[in-house]
Amino acid sequence: MTEPAPDAPAGPSINWDAWTEQATAWLSDYIQVDTVNPPGNETRAVEWLGRILDAEGIPYETYTPMGDASRQTLVARLPGDGSRGKALILLNHTDVVPFEREFWTVEPLGGEVRDGYVWGRGAQDMKGMGIMELVTFLLHKRHNLPLKRDLVFMAVADEEAGSAFGVEFLDRDHPELLDCEYVINEGGGGATEILGKQRNTFNIGVSEKGPLWLTLRAHGRPGHGSVPHDENAADRLVRALQRIQDWERPLQPAPEVREYFQQLFEAGIIERQPTDEVLAEFAENNPRMRSVQMNSISLTTLNAGVKHNVIPATAEATLDVRLVPGYDTEEFLRELAQVIDDNQVEVEQVFASSTPPSRLDTELYEVMTREAKRAVEDAVVVPGVSTGFTDSRVFRRRGVTAYGFVPTLTGPQDQGRVHGNDERLSIENLRLGMQILHQTVRGICG
Ligand SMILES: [Zn+2]
Repeated sequence: MTEPAPDAPAGPSINWDAWTEQATAWLSDYIQVDTVNPPGNETRAVEWLGRILDAEGIPYETYTPMGDASRQTLVARLPGDGSRGKALILLNHTDVVPFEREFWTVEPLGGEVRDGYVWGRGAQDMKGMGIMELVTFLLHKRHNLPLKRDLVFMAVADEEAGSAFGVEFLDRDHPELLDCEYVINEGGGGATEILGKQRNTFNIGVSEKGPLWLTLRAHGRPGHGSVPHDENAADRLVRALQRIQDWERPLQPAPEVREYFQQLFEAGIIERQPTDEVLAEFAENNPRMRSVQMNSISLTTLNAGVKHNVIPATAEATLDVRLVPGYDTEEFLRELAQVIDDNQVEVEQVFASSTPPSRLDTELYEVMTREAKRAVEDAVVVPGVSTGFTDSRVFRRRGVTAYGFVPTLTGPQDQGRVHGNDERLSIENLRLGMQILHQTVRGICG
């Protein structure tokens, strides 16, 4: 399952044992580079990556957002002859999310290598993928592999905190860097189990729900707690939130979601034709399958009041809304206002992003599918719609085809560790991911 099949495209023979050893050592080292965001300090990662690129004789540029020298992004390019079109960007973010040390059994930034795993914050999200991308990039330089399009290694800051210092900054100040045909990024990956069945499955991320972060603010009149009146802002907010909770919204599966279930059906993973009724059953029994099919609302913070005996004049709540791909933000806000039905409750839009899906009928999609199946016998490859969002959104809104494709196969014992405790990546997965990614890049750039 870890060696390319004999009919793989001819090329220089690559010593994957040696590269796996190198990649393991690099990932361990890279995890020890503290880029916890906030505050980020991603320039540390840029310097670390820069030393490797320097040693290989590969030039790169660094970009400093809003004058903050601690938060740089690195871009390196191997030029191709352009005969197959515009560039492929290997995209990775260098920052990682914070951790709660007391719940970890290893040092979160220790990069420990033990029991066949590299342990630490970022092993999966997404320094591990960053190393896989780096390795295929270096292989192209070392073996002087022919490139029919530019191959770009892009290590960006600030993905975990909204990308203002990362791709959003590049999009605004250096849009030429985002000009490409394809992006491979996080936001899709493989698993050894799907919907409770043992089956190696690769999910290619093609689309994401659109985040719409809202603050609800209720206004009222203060007063003494001993004399209740009708204009208590907290009461008003609670009534609005109750109406939102009671709001029954329909399932609206996107074409990509239907395609996902259709392919699972054809692979024999689900037994019944994925009709609306069957999709509704999945939604009923699985929170992720429900979220992926509907506009979801999570109440995330509540804030009101100053003292036990004072009626508050204002009260606030934040809602994390995620719209199904393509849903019109304004339309949703109109519906929400009708549900709340109280003009003393204002709705403030804090953050919104809506992007079109990437198509399934591209050459890169075909190559990823082919190479995943070549490396892993019997693997099922399906399109994925993510409930979360990634930097791919910035490329997709520019019309670029961006896929989430981290070609590793994680088991149930490895999931839940992303943004959680004891994050880790197996060395076997590091090897598999490097090989599939490398063959994919050869297939679309060679
Ligand atoms: Zn990530």
